[in-house]
Amino acid sequence: MPELPEVETIVRDIRPSLLGRRFGRVALSHDDILRGVTRRRLLQQLRGARVADVFRRAKHAVIDVGTHRLVVQPGMTGSLVVYDQPLPPDELPYAVLRAELDDGRELVYEDVRRLGTLLLLNRRGWEAYTTSLGPEPLDPAFTPEVLGSALARSRQAIKKVIMDQRYLAGVGNIYANEALFASGIDPSKPSNRLTRDDHQRLHADIRRILLAAIVSKGSTVRDYRTGTGEPGNFQFDLLVYEREGEPCVRCGTRLAGTHEIDARITVFCFRCQR
Ligand SMILES: [Zn+2]
Repeated sequence: MPELPEVETIVRDIRPSLLGRRFGRVALSHDDILRGVTRRRLLQQLRGARVADVFRRAKHAVIDVGTHRLVVQPGMTGSLVVYDQPLPPDELPYAVLRAELDDGRELVYEDVRRLGTLLLLNRRGWEAYTTSLGPEPLDPAFTPEVLGSALARSRQAIKKVIMDQRYLAGVGNIYANEALFASGIDPSKPSNRLTRDDHQRLHADIRRILLAAIVSKGSTVRDYRTGTGEPGNFQFDLLVYEREGEPCVRCGTRLAGTHEIDARITVFCFRCQR
């Protein structure tokens, strides 16, 4: 699933094309990606609506149309692109949501396996949604102390906790693996056993890695594409993710892989991560 840097990249790419534009015809090919909204209501609310803002929250792209906010959670195979030209025919079968813009362009949410979701939230729905999510790691208000007090609330493995959106927004499997390696923290260590020094390092490493990944337009390890339809480049800078069995860049030990922490792949160095 695209994580913070990937969704941030998508949002930065599509934002200039969408701001102030009005939606014309809107079409939805499948209902199975809708959550808490019917096709009828979604189309009704979007048609003719003007885009007031486009931003990211956690791993989701948010399109604010004034009375409502459309929250796009791109799945593993989802992409959100503004097309200047007619949609290429080979992409047509995957175009789930198509919204014409008043300048002739088109916003298209494509999802090959339809693993993503669309929400349409009113003001109250938005409040409930955003307060259920943890702090934004790139927000200036996010300090080592904020991270520390979130992590102190759980005895679960630290990797699980930083990926849990209620504790910290935007981090998924790729960047959890990378941040814990950078900070030299054992991914299976209970979250509440981290020290203040661990909080300092982890806070700095999470931010540094997420920011570097945004500069590189995200990591394309499977299907992720930017808001202009290009692959990202940060996959070349990942030091542990998908590198099980390769030598650790720090000490040369073979990187270990396990599915025991959270059923996802965790790659780490026995020697560098304690
Ligand atoms: Zn090592």
